[in-house]
Amino acid sequence: MNEHLLKILIIGDGNVGKSSFLHRYVNGQFNKMYKMTMGVDYALKLLHWSDKEKVRLQLWDIAGQERFISMNRVYYRGALGCVVMFDVTSSASFLSCRHWKRDLDNKAMLPNGESIPCILLANKCDLPQRVVPPDSIDKFSKANGFITWMEISVKENKNVGEAMRRLVQDILSV
Ligand code: GDP
Repeated sequence: MNEHLLKILIIGDGNVGKSSFLHRYVNGQFNKMYKMTMGVDYALKLLHWSDKEKVRLQLWDIAGQERFISMNRVYYRGALGCVVMFDVTSSASFLSCRHWKRDLDNKAMLPNGESIPCILLANKCDLPQRVVPPDSIDKFSKANGFITWMEISVKENKNVGEAMRRLVQDILSV
């Protein structure tokens, strides 16, 4: 049995749904009262990836209530994958993704010097008042080196597990 230990970061502006995502993915629940994290929240999840492989995920929720804060290098150290999240009803949170990705690429890299696999997640797609159109997301994702992007709804549990599987798949294939 092969066992992998993967540190994965979840970054993005405050209020986009990072803590809810982590909570949903780890516990399978969505709690409207789940409060904003201050600092770093940390969770573990074990995946039975295949007959021969187990994956232990170390998930770091890097909360920023500010629009964008540059993170200390210590948060990025040893990270093998990353989720950059925004809220489709907030164009400001979408614009911030450029800064989050740049900060990540400046401070985290794989031992071979390449940038770490990063997926772009467009959360709250259950809400009717979306302001960020899919073609803008697609263009942005391709131009900024994301492995791919996905629409998710933490509230409706849409694409949460799928997004993490896609990221883990990419990390393991590096
Ligand atoms: P964080 O600051 O990025 O960690 O965001 P939170 O996880 O605290 O979520 C911010 C707010 O968005 C909370 O009120 C959540 O209930 C809400 N929220 C999170 N995900 C969704 C979603 O998929 N749909 C909707 N409608 N609300 C969501």
